[in-house]
Amino acid sequence: MFLLNYLRLPALWLALSFFDQPPAGRFEEAARLLKPDRVFDGETMHEGWAVRVRGERIEAVGPAGSVPAAGAEVVDLKGTTLLPGLIEGHSHLLLHPYNETSWNDQVLKEPRAYRVARATVHARKTLLAGFTTVRDLGTEGADYDDVGLKQAIAQGLIPGPRMIVATRALVASGSYGPKGFSPDLDVPQGAEEADGHDRLIQAVRRQIGRGADVVKVYADYRWGLMADARPTFSLEEIRLIVETARSSGRPTAAHAATAEGMRRAILAGCETIEHGDAGTPEIFALMKEHKTALCPTLAAGDAVSQYRGWKKGVGPEPENVRQKRVTFRQALAAGVTICFGGDVGVFAHGDNARELEMMVEYGMKPLDVLRSATSVNADVFHLTDRGRIRPGLLADLVAVEGDPAQAIQAIRNVRLIMQGGKVVNN
Ligand SMILES: [Zn+2]
Repeated sequence: MFLLNYLRLPALWLALSFFDQPPAGRFEEAARLLKPDRVFDGETMHEGWAVRVRGERIEAVGPAGSVPAAGAEVVDLKGTTLLPGLIEGHSHLLLHPYNETSWNDQVLKEPRAYRVARATVHARKTLLAGFTTVRDLGTEGADYDDVGLKQAIAQGLIPGPRMIVATRALVASGSYGPKGFSPDLDVPQGAEEADGHDRLIQAVRRQIGRGADVVKVYADYRWGLMADARPTFSLEEIRLIVETARSSGRPTAAHAATAEGMRRAILAGCETIEHGDAGTPEIFALMKEHKTALCPTLAAGDAVSQYRGWKKGVGPEPENVRQKRVTFRQALAAGVTICFGGDVGVFAHGDNARELEMMVEYGMKPLDVLRSATSVNADVFHLTDRGRIRPGLLADLVAVEGDPAQAIQAIRNVRLIMQGGKVVNN
């Protein structure tokens, strides 16, 4: 009924068709010519290159002399390396470091408004560290608040990275947390419990309907009174999750720390495995064969060990840290695609570079680490409009002092951040 009346209003039609047109002046948008010392295009480092940006897109890139300067404002970035905006592969903007407040208390005691208010600060810090996109892998009890956060950023209401969101994530009944309560109590959970054919299909569709870009499943977890992680969902259940998500064009990411949890996630068709701590050479070979990417989250394990009292650089490395070094090297040796993602939120937002530094510390070449944080993550997350410096792609760019391919720490010394062609720092 409303629609019929609507259609009879010619003035409104005129107004609507007006808004279909590009805003006046869009084609006269000023061009900028960025002149750093070198350009990392997402794959290769090029000394003496320049980049021309117009509107929200990259217009040209190449040796400084070959990029047209006509009509462009020149931005002198002497002393810097220009890179594609960095893509964080594993964040939780709705969490903050566990040494500030335990995960249990964040989930059970913090008001949702407080968590969202904090998340807006986390989003700004992430962007100002040069991370222009994040894949946020679960709200941990904050339902669909990541969807609203994503919308507020996309509309320019608050500064923050472009977001790929997972919403609630899926866990097998009884397997997740908060833990440590009487078995007589039903404690609210940090993710959505669902099992079996119909309930899993419903949960995946519900999460997608409410805004999930990616479905996250916990293939294993520490559950019951056991201290170590064990597989949770059956292979058939994970396959059902993956197929339901895939039929709508969405990928599935799996939390998996055990070899068996990883094996089920790989065979079921999950596209990334988060953590992968107890992977074996056989499991990493299987990942390579199935083109499953590993998001190793080195910094999270390192941070949690320090929260438990390990004095890094002073005390001996705890067994889990030592083991993580071994399995990460096994994954590299097997040629597994390494996605960059630190599990930020376990440690401070804005300190995302900690994972990049640890990837180098654990044996990856700095240039490969830079690829991982740009073109590799873009490919793994199906982001065809970013992750490289190429004409036509989004002008999400970051200039850092020095050369991070020589010393990865340089990635922290950000001079300029551009998101969709707009300078977002200062
Ligand atoms: Zn996580």
